[in-house]
Amino acid sequence: AKKRGKNNFQFYVYENEDIMERRLKIEQGLKAALDNSEFELHYQPKIVLTSGEICGVEALLRWRHPELGVISPLEFIPVAEETGFIRKIGEWVIKEACRQNKLWQKSGLYIKVAVNVSSIQFEDDLFAERIRQALMESQLSPEYLGVEITESVMQNVELTSVTLHELKQLGVKVSVDDFGTGYSSLSVLSKMPIDLVKIDKSFIDEMLTDSNTASLVKTMITMAEDLELDIIAEGIENEQQVTFLIENGCQFGQGYLYSPPIPSAETEKILKQQLMP
Ligand code: C2E
Ligand code: CA
Ligand code: CA
Ligand code: CA
Repeated sequence: AKKRGKNNFQFYVYENEDIMERRLKIEQGLKAALDNSEFELHYQPKIVLTSGEICGVEALLRWRHPELGVISPLEFIPVAEETGFIRKIGEWVIKEACRQNKLWQKSGLYIKVAVNVSSIQFEDDLFAERIRQALMESQLSPEYLGVEITESVMQNVELTSVTLHELKQLGVKVSVDDFGTGYSSLSVLSKMPIDLVKIDKSFIDEMLTDSNTASLVKTMITMAEDLELDIIAEGIENEQQVTFLIENGCQFGQGYLYSPPIPSAETEKILKQQLMP
């Protein structure tokens, strides 16, 4: 940047200052966000592709920053992970999802809610114990809670395996999120007590235009069948994708075609229409 002259150099510095200032605001904001009730969970339906029925919902975290407005989890989760705030935030997500689901049950709506779990959270020895406590406090029965972990968690085979067995014993189902994007050997996957794999959106985006991706998706579906795992496609945006997935044996899906993540009140309306017609 130096050689390009003074003006360019200044521009470069200012731009970086903006980025740093925003990052600082996010970091400092995270400290107060829980106490100030700035977080909210939205819910995205999971669909049985052949019937269009809702078979579950995924809880996705939203943060309304008092000054910066709504900030995407893609921006603040990494900051929360670096600073360690993710532990407290993750705990809140689990408790809130249990609380909300119990409320739905009180009005007769029975649905499984899955929460996203950061690897930092999952690698805590007490993770399964925290889940057990959240279930106990909310009086929610374990079959109505699921956790989504990413493939990267699988790298720590021993620790992961202990926690996964604890969760299995509790009766909480585990999904492997963003499947296909990371390193996870099939042999490891086959030995772990997991219940569901989620095909990453990047594959769904390309499977109709790229034949290699199409083969990959087919292979993932066959593999899940062989391992007796359920499989769900994320990021479905059109009917052609649904047709391809059904033809190739993928049972479940999620995506804007059906619904984006929506606030709890709207979710409740949709659930009522569907579950209590
Ligand atoms: P993810 O778990 O892979 O979630 C799927 C993301 O794709 C969500 O973005 C969702 O809104 C979006 N999405 C769903 N269907 C479609 C579609 O058809 N088209 C498009 N373009 N996008 C779709 P979101 O809510 O912004 O979350 C982004 C990521 O942030 C999540 O990816 C997850 O990794 C992370 N995240 C969200 N909530 C939590 C949380 O409570 N805890 C942790 N640790 N991570 C979370
Ligand atoms: Ca997820
Ligand atoms: Ca995902
Ligand atoms: Ca994804």
